Amino acid sequence: MTTNEAFSIAGYEALIKGLLEHGYEVRDFSDADPSQPHLVLRHDIDMSLEAAVEIAQVERRLGISAHYFVLLRTEMYNVFSKNGLRAVETILSHGHKIGLHFDASLYENDEFEDAAEWEVGCLQCATGCEVEMISFHRPKKSLLGRKKSLAGLRHAYQPRFFNEMAYCSDSRGHWAYGHPQSLKTVRERHSLQLLTHPIWWTKNDNTNPVSRLDQFADDRHLYLRKELGRNCEPYGHAYPHLFDAD
Ligand SMILES: [Zn+2]
Repeated sequence: MTTNEAFSIAGYEALIKGLLEHGYEVRDFSDADPSQPHLVLRHDIDMSLEAAVEIAQVERRLGISAHYFVLLRTEMYNVFSKNGLRAVETILSHGHKIGLHFDASLYENDEFEDAAEWEVGCLQCATGCEVEMISFHRPKKSLLGRKKSLAGLRHAYQPRFFNEMAYCSDSRGHWAYGHPQSLKTVRERHSLQLLTHPIWWTKNDNTNPVSRLDQFADDRHLYLRKELGRNCEPYGHAYPHLFDAD
């Protein structure tokens, strides 16, 4: 695998630079025209806000802005925690937009419209910024290509963004249909919604998705143990080595 194709920070930078050199122009969901070579960068943050910050910094260096979609009701991270909110604020400070990554599976069909509105309100309270877009987390098939807006907002699987534009995703840590730059629609500069998940692009030393997640789990486990030590003296005294590097 060449640097250009690697799932790494350098690989992400090379991918975006390659698309820009090919004639793509980065746009927001709000002003992308499906008939133009417009590129919308979407990041769904499923696991790690810290990984998202790394990608946000790369994009700032490149002078482009993207959409970052955060989950509110995940067990993976907490947007309202000190570190979580700091990460979100860093992403915003780099000129990007924060949208709601919405897990519809947590709700009954007849309540998820209200639930989305409630989550949007909570996210706006946390960030102080207006939420303009929603993306579904692991959507069931019936939500793909759904025409209707959600809670009065546009969502990333509406036909304008999902059918009229080309769509590429790095789900599960690989490109299901080949590297984006190898696709005919991309070679022809068709408008493109590029969905990436920051977790797959950081931790450059692990190229395998499973070892990447193992590394993430190890880091989180250590962090949890440190928090236990900070919140419960006997635990901290029992494992003083946890704080050696602090
Ligand atoms: Zn997701």
